[in-house]
Amino acid sequence: MTGRFAPSPTSDLHLGNLRTAVVAALLARAAGVGFLVRIEDLDVGRVGAAGDVATRQLHDLALLGLSWDGPVVHQSARLDRYRAAVDHLPTYECFCTRREIAESASAPHADGYRPYPGTCRGLTAVQRADRRRERPPALRVDAGAASITVHDRWAGAVAGVVDDFVVRRNDGAYSYNLAVVVDDLAQGVTQVVRGDDLLSSSPRQAWLARRLGGVEPEYAHVGLVVNAAGRRLAKRDGAVTLAQLARRGTSAADVVSLIGHSLGLNEPGEPVTLADLSRRFDPARRPAAWVWPG
Ligand code: GLU
Repeated sequence: MTGRFAPSPTSDLHLGNLRTAVVAALLARAAGVGFLVRIEDLDVGRVGAAGDVATRQLHDLALLGLSWDGPVVHQSARLDRYRAAVDHLPTYECFCTRREIAESASAPHADGYRPYPGTCRGLTAVQRADRRRERPPALRVDAGAASITVHDRWAGAVAGVVDDFVVRRNDGAYSYNLAVVVDDLAQGVTQVVRGDDLLSSSPRQAWLARRLGGVEPEYAHVGLVVNAAGRRLAKRDGAVTLAQLARRGTSAADVVSLIGHSLGLNEPGEPVTLADLSRRFDPARRPAAWVWPG
């Protein structure tokens, strides 16, 4: 049984990511389970320099006082496992462009995700051969319009219809939704802590976990850190990474105190360590959104 923090090495961790990492570690400790870190670097080819970013991410987690069990797993080293999982799933080739999906009848979810309407599910072998000459296909799982309700520690029951989501993109890369589930199962992850923006992905992932013969973890989605305008924190919001904050005189220890305060665990400016936060943390209390004024 273990919790985990699973950053994508697209850019340095910002306060929102760091806060999620702290909550993940606190919740794991409160439950008396292990804590893993996994680097979700399946997009390395596109992102470039991901190795350096991942190294800095681990360095930043350590600066906050976080530690984790065992070696850090990199998704880019696990392609065989994703291939094997896809081989066990009912899938079909999909040739739709983003635009075609956007123009389809399905309304986007609050997070912008558009459920796939199943356009390519019924293509004949001849039609598929034809379309393959135009563009390489993505692979979608045939979920049979399953609906599923999952449990989030803080949000409660989350119901969702599972669409035929992509398991392998048309550039050959395995999708986030596939890899995250394969790895959580393989690593014995029983607790998934992450930002609220992924709450609506949970039914899809729980369905896949069950389809692969496993059990979904307990989900615990954390309120996002937002800027003064109420929008999800992003790089352009000024000093948001540890390196940027350090340049303006805010140390990693100060950041632990800021995060602790945002979780209602210490007074503003009170020097605290992760061990202090761990003693004060109440797993029943949902970490609400936090406004970072910048
Ligand atoms: N790698 C994902 C991200 O950084 C998080 C995946 C997860 O925690 O399930 O957004």
